[in-house]
Amino acid sequence: MQTVFAKSVPGRLGVVPEKPARSAGDMLPADLLRTGAPALPELSELDVVRHYSLLSRLNYGVDSNFYPLGSCTMKYNPKFTEVAAGFKEFSGSHPLLPELSGGEGQAAGNLEAVWLTERLLAEITGMKAFTLQPMAGAQGELTGILLIAAYHRARGNRKTRIICPDSAHGTNPASAALAGYEVVNIESRDGLVDPEVLSGALDDSVAGLMMTCPNTLGLFEKNLPEIVRLLRRVDALLYYDGANFNACMGRLRVGDVGFDVVHVNLHKTMATPHGGGGPGSGPVGVSERLLPFLPGPRVVRNSDGSFALQRDLPQSIGRVAPFYGNFAVCLKALAYMLRCGKEGLARASDYAVLNANYVRARLGGYLEVPYDRVCMHEFVCSAASLGEKGVHALDIAKALLDRGFHAPTIYFPLIVKECLMIEPTETESKETLDAFCDALISIVKSADSDPRSLLDAPLTLPVRRLDETRAARSMVLTEDLDKGA
Ligand SMILES: *Cc1c(COP(=O)(O)O)cnc(C)c1O
Repeated sequence: MQTVFAKSVPGRLGVVPEKPARSAGDMLPADLLRTGAPALPELSELDVVRHYSLLSRLNYGVDSNFYPLGSCTMKYNPKFTEVAAGFKEFSGSHPLLPELSGGEGQAAGNLEAVWLTERLLAEITGMKAFTLQPMAGAQGELTGILLIAAYHRARGNRKTRIICPDSAHGTNPASAALAGYEVVNIESRDGLVDPEVLSGALDDSVAGLMMTCPNTLGLFEKNLPEIVRLLRRVDALLYYDGANFNACMGRLRVGDVGFDVVHVNLHKTMATPHGGGGPGSGPVGVSERLLPFLPGPRVVRNSDGSFALQRDLPQSIGRVAPFYGNFAVCLKALAYMLRCGKEGLARASDYAVLNANYVRARLGGYLEVPYDRVCMHEFVCSAASLGEKGVHALDIAKALLDRGFHAPTIYFPLIVKECLMIEPTETESKETLDAFCDALISIVKSADSDPRSLLDAPLTLPVRRLDETRAARSMVLTEDLDKGA
């Protein structure tokens, strides 16, 4: 691959800029003027079009093919949500507008969109109120734990520990530690949090429990009522990691179960293409008891139907993000919720669960499925039995790339050896799921007949096997033109 600079040929032209009416020397002080020509590549228009078209085809995304990345939920995001977020009434308004005198009125539509998104999320999850500020799931977790800390502080509770089951997402213990808590890890039993194990870890020093549900094994935690009861006894709060609420929409209201805080990843649950670090949104919902501590300012609806910012929040933990969060992502979620309606959201979750169970059932005879029972929107399987042939989860993942599929998540969660975590999402057709299963089954068969062929994969991509650690730690982001590409 050559960069656009390496393709440059001196003197070749793509555009002929208009001659400016006045020279730069007339308009700028002499010390700001360039002394030499800028180092831009010289190319024809066709060279440029081909270069970027090629780059766009090297990019892999849901718009081009199946992307079964467990936990990350790389689902198809309908284009109408992009249109809604792009309405110029939204995209053209300055984010500081509501802060200006009289600005609340001018930004009324934006404030209403924030208010309505929060109300709908509260309705779907059964929580009292939401904040849209957190810009990712992990930031939502940190916000939630700070809310829990504020609650205990206000009551004069001295609490130092947060419990995280080993089936929780890795960001959970990280968020609790970042908020200053000691993290207590408890082991799951048969894939689930066991009330007996939990009670062994509970005492008055416990501030809360962070539950990922469905957990990272793709299983629904069936002991929730008992867990809630145990925590209430020591005045500990319950955090619900709803990053994967795409499995539960319209079927579970966590507030009704007794959870105090929840975050929902809009970029996994509603609509927003994500990956490569963003953009995301991890709104946080709370029960009545945590209401006073929510980040501010809050959008409120006055009795005359107008919208305003409420700043007088004496117990608030303060802002956790600039403005009101990732506003455009929230707009996409709002468009998605309004378009789907209650039944549509439930149907999306039902299909996510159905698709995962279909793939699980088809692969069951070929790869070990350690928790082989009805799963939620994703499931884990293990390549451990192929170890004697010298084939590992990594080799299966690489071989899938040659067959045109993105690999599933591998080596996560840590509690399953040689783990492959598969999440098909709700929008995929049976044909696509079958093609993926066929490819995976043919790879497992090759592991028996010709393991060598898998160890060399991928053979068809621009790069082969990278040293992933070195690629991240010693990034090379510039090209040495003298050496050529
Ligand atoms: C993705 C995920 C997170 C983290 O969300 P980010 O937006 O990546 O910070 C947390 N918990 C679970 C269960 C997840 O799947």
